[in-house]
Amino acid sequence: MVRSLSVLGATGSIGASTLDLVRRNRADWRVVALTANSSVLDLARLAREFSAELAVVADETQLPALREALAGSGIAVAGGPQAVVEAAARGADVTVAAIVGCAGLAPTMAAIEQGGVIALANKEALVSAGEVMTAAVTRHGATLLPIDSEHNAIFQCLSGNDLDHVRSITLTASGGPFRDWSAERLSAATPAEAVRHPNWDMGAKISVDSATMFNKGLELIEAHYLFPVGLDRLRIIVHPQSVVHSMVEYRDGSTLAQLGPSDMRVPIASALAWPGRMDTPCAPLDLAAIGELTFRAPDEERFPATRLARQAAEAGGAIPAVLNAANEVAVAAFLAGQIAFTRIAAQVDHVLGCFAPAPPASLADVLAVDAEARARTRELAASA
Ligand code: NAD
Ligand code: MG
Repeated sequence: MVRSLSVLGATGSIGASTLDLVRRNRADWRVVALTANSSVLDLARLAREFSAELAVVADETQLPALREALAGSGIAVAGGPQAVVEAAARGADVTVAAIVGCAGLAPTMAAIEQGGVIALANKEALVSAGEVMTAAVTRHGATLLPIDSEHNAIFQCLSGNDLDHVRSITLTASGGPFRDWSAERLSAATPAEAVRHPNWDMGAKISVDSATMFNKGLELIEAHYLFPVGLDRLRIIVHPQSVVHSMVEYRDGSTLAQLGPSDMRVPIASALAWPGRMDTPCAPLDLAAIGELTFRAPDEERFPATRLARQAAEAGGAIPAVLNAANEVAVAAFLAGQIAFTRIAAQVDHVLGCFAPAPPASLADVLAVDAEARARTRELAASA
């Protein structure tokens, strides 16, 4: 059966991995919409290759270039953030939400409102919107399948079991490129060092998040909304080899883990084929070659991000949206060379203190909090 597919954030790392799987199973998919922020030449190339119905660039100033690149192709083009939302609202059978940051929230919500399958990579959207998003999923009968490797692992380990039987869920963390760095060395870490991840090849923002451990912090909040077992049952463990992608411990004493190579095509394939399975070209897991799997507790002194994220999740309401927005702005300032690496967590901590946890009732409420937290963090970054 041919299914229709849209990829929001088609030109990114997750977009490329998704389209690589589609390329290998071309006859199974009809591509509806592909979107990008500003890389119109990449977007146009993908739109032609996959005979997309629609290509959308979020940066409206790039629309003429996109129109020119797709002239004569018969592919519809559009530009601007609202056009990305409308593309998502086309209601493909499967929408891969792979935009980075809260910029992906409104499009992801629009896809959810169509009631299809949402394969979610864009963790910032869920972290920011929390119950506003999970309530929309229920209301519209949508299916939210996590692509984030840890959450996909947990989803697989939970399959068929009641959350009541779960004693704990453990998210594994590689620890990032600075896992073994001293606090002193961390304060001098450069953007080039931060984006060089030992195990995974990812976009710049998530690579920095992995270095600060905010990625694991966001993932803790993501898990809290996807698998509501209670925050006290959600744990984090550092596992440098990134082979065990996460674990679920049941009350009967069984712990189920999902293992695999560090290749995002594995969790993406799991979501695309769900509830079935599909082949991927990923290297088989060679445990004898890997030799050892090691685990250790996270160090929240050097990496306060997971502690801040847990506090934000406990506070609830719009506080996770504040944490996410402050982190996005601080990461951008770090990448631009404006603030030191260790200021990222310091600024998030400071901005979190400026907000009370009023629960957002709608997407508009979440976006308002997001905008206010961004403005506060920008002021801080500018005065740094
Ligand atoms: P990336 O930077 O490689 O790609 C981001 C995509 O979003 C691009 O297509 C870009 O054009 C688009 N985009 C960026 N800003 C936009 C905006 N303002 N409006 C519309 N589109 C915009 O990022 P990535 O590594 O592919 O990550 C995408 C998402 O997946 C993130 O939320 C990330 O946390 C999550 N994720 C990524 C990985 C990974 O291995 N890369 C793993 C797990 C989760
Ligand atoms: Mg992850």
